[in-house]
Amino acid sequence: MKRVSILGATGSIGQNTVDLIAREPGDFHVVALTGGRNTARLADDAIRLGAEVAVIAHENGLDDLRTRLAGTSIEAAAGRAALLDAASRPTDWTMSAIVGSAGLEPGLRALANGTCLALANKESLVCAGSLLLAEAGRHDATILPVDSEHSAIFQALAGEEIAAVERIVITASGGAFRDWPLEKLQSATLAEASAHPNWDMGQRITIDSATLFNKAMEMIEAREFFRVRPEQIEVVIHPESLIHALVGFRDGALMAHVGPPDMRHAIGYALNWPERRHLPVERLDLVKTGQLTFREPDEARHPALRLAREVMETGGYSGAVFNAAKEAALDGFIAGQIGFLDMAGVVETVLERFAARTDCGTSMTLETVHAIDGEARRVASEVIATF
Ligand code: NDP
Repeated sequence: MKRVSILGATGSIGQNTVDLIAREPGDFHVVALTGGRNTARLADDAIRLGAEVAVIAHENGLDDLRTRLAGTSIEAAAGRAALLDAASRPTDWTMSAIVGSAGLEPGLRALANGTCLALANKESLVCAGSLLLAEAGRHDATILPVDSEHSAIFQALAGEEIAAVERIVITASGGAFRDWPLEKLQSATLAEASAHPNWDMGQRITIDSATLFNKAMEMIEAREFFRVRPEQIEVVIHPESLIHALVGFRDGALMAHVGPPDMRHAIGYALNWPERRHLPVERLDLVKTGQLTFREPDEARHPALRLAREVMETGGYSGAVFNAAKEAALDGFIAGQIGFLDMAGVVETVLERFAARTDCGTSMTLETVHAIDGEARRVASEVIATF
């Protein structure tokens, strides 16, 4: 029986993971489920899956969680320290699906047990890719990508040498505003930015898809995870979202991963890896699909892609600055403090202010990542206040 934990169980990725595990109750022993604020969902799933422990990150959720778990043998806990303790419990497989840089340290704790970490939390790789990979190496742990594009690349690379790779092509749906005229974008509302044309995801990643900041994060994530050069990473707009990524090899072969937009494929692939098992995802009907279309992204319209290239070239702590500024800008947009196009302006300004302070020498530390993250958020708030 596989011992598994789900960090961020109450979110969109977490719920898809719960769904897959609940379908095969005899195959899994659930160690820990964690949530941020949603005690009702956390308690329901902890009972449904028979978890050992349920942890809610917000301290004030503890009483409610305890009440909901009364009469069961499931431990209830709350707060950041309890979350890190839960992430440290030994497992064979842990899903890292907390949103934002809050997911980094729990992921590191899980790796310290030599687990197989299914990594949906792309912010971890963007902020501290080298730290995460070094921790995995130190403890003989495995990291499996869960982002659909990176899972696609990983699958296309099975049995291949990374040295034979010429290029990696990441597809982007173009998000909610791909066909909007540029002059209309600044007045886009929160509700409009929160509706993805193809994927059903959490609100933050959906808005990041509209700005293409999600794609920018994925470029950095690919660079960190697959250790290819920045110029080997391409982005192409593919409105149908059926090809998730392609890998081009030096003999000219281009391997594409194709499938309907359903995160349960990438999650299930990571859950069953290295086996392939039956998954409850729709099978693609190629004839009904008809056409697949592609176009070049307009980098003037989406400065996030250019900023990602700068971050990949700079390396060091620039990913932590980029992510923190992006998260703060997104908070500013959600709070109605800045317009849609201002988000990229905020990130660019913060990156410029930190330009001389991103070198990490030979090794990155978690303390410095945290310090840079906090400082970049403070600077981003000051910049937002000037809008
Ligand atoms: P959601 O917002 O749907 O869920 C986020 C999860 O994190 C929830 O369980 C939430 O708890 C929890 N959480 C939020 N803040 C904290 C905190 N400070 N401490 C602890 N837990 C917290 O996000 P998604 O599921 O969409 O995304 C999760 C991660 O996966 C992100 O990094 C995202 O970029 C990545 N990803 C998502 C994809 C998708 O299809 N959704 C695709 C590819 C990658 P609660 O809800 O209880 O407050």
